[in-house]
Amino acid sequence: MNRYRVIIIGLGSTGSSILYNLVRMGISDVLAIDARCPGCGQTSRSSALIRLHYTHPTLRDMAIYSWRFWRRYVEETGYIHEVFHETGIGFAGGEDHLKTMEEVVNSLKSSGIDVELYDPEIFKQEFYRELDVTGLAGIAWEPGSGYCDAYDAVQGFVDYALKGGAEVNTRERVIGFEFEDDTINKVKTDKGVYEAEYIVNSSGVWTNEVLKSLGIELPIKLAREDVLYVSQPNRKIWFGWGDFSLGFYSRPDGETRYLIGGLEPVYNGFDPEPGEYSSPPIDVVEDRLGRAAKRFPLLNDTTPISAIYGFYDVTSDFQPIIGYDLKYRNLLHLVGLSGHGFKLAPAYGLTIAELIRYGESRRFNISSLTLERFKIGKDQHSRYKYGIIG
Ligand SMILES: Cc1cc2nc3c(=O)[nH]c(=O)nc-3n(C[C@H](O)[C@H](O)[C@H](O)COP(=O)(O)OP(=O)(O)OC[C@H]3O[C@@H](n4cnc5c(N)ncnc54)[C@H](O)[C@@H]3O)c2cc1C
Repeated sequence: MNRYRVIIIGLGSTGSSILYNLVRMGISDVLAIDARCPGCGQTSRSSALIRLHYTHPTLRDMAIYSWRFWRRYVEETGYIHEVFHETGIGFAGGEDHLKTMEEVVNSLKSSGIDVELYDPEIFKQEFYRELDVTGLAGIAWEPGSGYCDAYDAVQGFVDYALKGGAEVNTRERVIGFEFEDDTINKVKTDKGVYEAEYIVNSSGVWTNEVLKSLGIELPIKLAREDVLYVSQPNRKIWFGWGDFSLGFYSRPDGETRYLIGGLEPVYNGFDPEPGEYSSPPIDVVEDRLGRAAKRFPLLNDTTPISAIYGFYDVTSDFQPIIGYDLKYRNLLHLVGLSGHGFKLAPAYGLTIAELIRYGESRRFNISSLTLERFKIGKDQHSRYKYGIIG
């Protein structure tokens, strides 16, 4: 039977970044297992906006670290092409959001980030004259933010790790474990049994299914997100957008399409297999386009092209679960990403690799993001109503 230093369960943006970071730190005795293919879970449907506007201080640090990483992706991974597209992203809010927006912008500025809080009328004159600024009091503009090609980003992480000696088993499902007291000794799949010193759970929305035989149920609910793609209007919207007043986010998608999603996930109990609609459903068109066209009226003349759906693994405070399990001493989790976890993958990967390599998280203070917080009721919700903003 093969024995590894680390077994990673799930190879989406999270697991693949953990794999990459472990190999980068000199730990290549790693087996990563995925029931599908790398990046084929929720990561495959991610809108993958890369932004810095976070109210939680640790996540803001992680967003800055990760944003810098995505911008140097080829240098860092040796992958065949860049995955990051700079478009600029504006975050728009009303009077009730302004104080928090100011604080976030000032904090980013003090970290040396080029970001500005604009009066909406001035933003409109300078950037996009067809913007309807009704109800807005400020726009936090991040010129260096944008989006990633999410599936490709996973492939670059995996390529790097394979070249460094790690093993990746795809289309292999973890079906159980062998454990004694507080230690997991073996991981059982539909194809074999493996031993490891550490087990990392990065199986996202499938977490509680994966962990069931261990008697663990993490505080994660599943939520659905529909994303609509429309044609770009006559005057192209060349930047991304997060609208705290109207409850949507959007971004360009390549040269000709514009993507629109919602800030309020919908909870349901469906099988969380991501996918796409054969044609955009009317309720998705009405909701997504209805909101976005209030801000960008030219969208009223665009054509819906397609719609996809995916699922979020949402915690009660919309923040991730990072670190050791409370029951098993050699099990680590990085799950509960709550719909904003793609952009943070570089920081998440680094953190888990440091926990394994050094026994502590050196770069980020994760004390408020561990599982303990749910036991002591220490809520870490975003300062905004929409927890997905973080
Ligand atoms: C529609 C949508 C839009 C989003 N937009 C953004 C955004 O703009 N910005 C942002 O930062 N984030 C966004 N997110 C969130 C982000 O994409 C996710 O949080 C992140 O990609 C999840 O990655 P993951 O690796 O944790 O999970 P996944 O990508 O789902 O990977 C989990 C893996 O575990 C595997 N697995 C499951 N069960 C087993 C098993 N039994 N054995 C072995 N393997 C198993 C699966 O096959 C899967 O590949 C969005 C998400 C969705 C769905």
